[in-house]
Amino acid sequence: MTFFPLFHNTHHMKVLLIGGGTIAKRRAKSLAKAGVTFDLMASVIADGITELVEGAGGKVTTCAYGSSEVMGGYNIICALTNNRAVNQHIAADAKALGLLVNVADVPDDGNIIFGAIIDRAPLTIAINNGGASPVLSSILRQQLEQLVPKAYGQLSRLVGAYRPQVKAALPDTAHRSIFWHQVLQGPVAEAVFSGKHDDAETLLKGHLKDIDSGLDQLMKTGEVFLIGAGPGDPDLLTLRAFRLLQKADVVLYDALVSEGVMALVPEAVERVYVGKRRANHSVPQNGINQLLVDYAKQGKRVARLKGGDPFIFGRGGEEIETLAEQHVPFQVVPGITAASGCSAYSGIPLTHRDYAQSVRFVTGQLRDGGVDLPWPELVVEGQTLVFYMGLKGLPLICEELIKHGMDINMPVALIEKGTTQDQRVLVSNLTQLPAMIEAEKVMSPSLFVVGRVVSLHDKLAWFTSSREA
Ligand code: SAH
Repeated sequence: MTFFPLFHNTHHMKVLLIGGGTIAKRRAKSLAKAGVTFDLMASVIADGITELVEGAGGKVTTCAYGSSEVMGGYNIICALTNNRAVNQHIAADAKALGLLVNVADVPDDGNIIFGAIIDRAPLTIAINNGGASPVLSSILRQQLEQLVPKAYGQLSRLVGAYRPQVKAALPDTAHRSIFWHQVLQGPVAEAVFSGKHDDAETLLKGHLKDIDSGLDQLMKTGEVFLIGAGPGDPDLLTLRAFRLLQKADVVLYDALVSEGVMALVPEAVERVYVGKRRANHSVPQNGINQLLVDYAKQGKRVARLKGGDPFIFGRGGEEIETLAEQHVPFQVVPGITAASGCSAYSGIPLTHRDYAQSVRFVTGQLRDGGVDLPWPELVVEGQTLVFYMGLKGLPLICEELIKHGMDINMPVALIEKGTTQDQRVLVSNLTQLPAMIEAEKVMSPSLFVVGRVVSLHDKLAWFTSSREA
């Protein structure tokens, strides 16, 4: 290792930047962001730099570098001019004074380098690759930015405040380690990540109390993540959903969750199928609600994966109601609902200034052989209708819409297995669609879209599934 990472207390950094171009500006920005006060000297100073330096409490001197006299009082010098010889000269002077010196673009000319930073203060991650490729560091930084939730800083502060208490309550290092692992990977951390700071502190205090009765109780605190898995394409999963799947102990999923999404669940995670189609008997809804509670009470982290968004025709509300009643910690992760996914992947915007000013999500499920809906409210110009679960009742839906005055030529689309490699988009009109479905043997899941916006499909379709290719 050529460069060993150290973290410098910003209050003790006395920094002088020499140079006034783009590199100096970038360095000034990151120092100012970190709350470091620094000075800058250069003969030519680019726009915006003076404001940055002065905004951070430092001063600017317009003057070329002359001698090491200007280094008095500083402990870090950054040689950032665009002239390598000048930078080397500065570096040699600084080293002779025993100072830390960073040289733009040529790390070996100096003795320190600045890393790419992920700032979750007080938690900070800095990346360096010895100056081999700043772009590579920056790419890695972007990837880590996505993996490390923004609230890590708050989590660090919260647990930092309780460290002395935990140390006193658990003098044994091994026990303390179990305690912190459970806290930092369990409901306390997740409460912080999902913005429930008071809950997090209450939970942490509860864990501290439980210490007296041993760590057993703590080990039994599971939690549930109700996660929207989106309509099919695994790329449509949110970052939070992905992160939670990586830390789950068990996943409960149903038929709408695509194989692509299930492939993102780590091998070691237990999978429990609770859906309808593939099993003879599906687990009834209250059975699922109870299963979630039971797993969580065994101390497991339970991911409940549901197709689309859990709160749109997903019974997600019922599942978490039971959890709330039983005091099991939970969080809800939204997913891309079928209407959004199918709309995007079929090139049918749900609203459009020329065609539709509102959109309505409707369940087309049959009840006692009929579809009971407020038809007059549905037959309205300028409104797009999206029917979920309407495949069986589709002829009936078309009939009712026509009966209530909708234009018989109203364009309609049926999107089968939207966003997946098996997607099919069938475009027709209200009168002809039922026959088309029969002929094309359309399968579930399918979404039915009614409205003038459908006419845009021809022009805006961009996604071709392997089935359509
Ligand atoms: N919570 C889900 C909806 C569950 S209801 C969501 O937000 O998307 C199930 C209905 O959703 C299906 O009958 C079908 O109408 C629709 N659906 C779900 N995934 C779909 C897909 N990939 N393509 C087309 N329709 C889909």
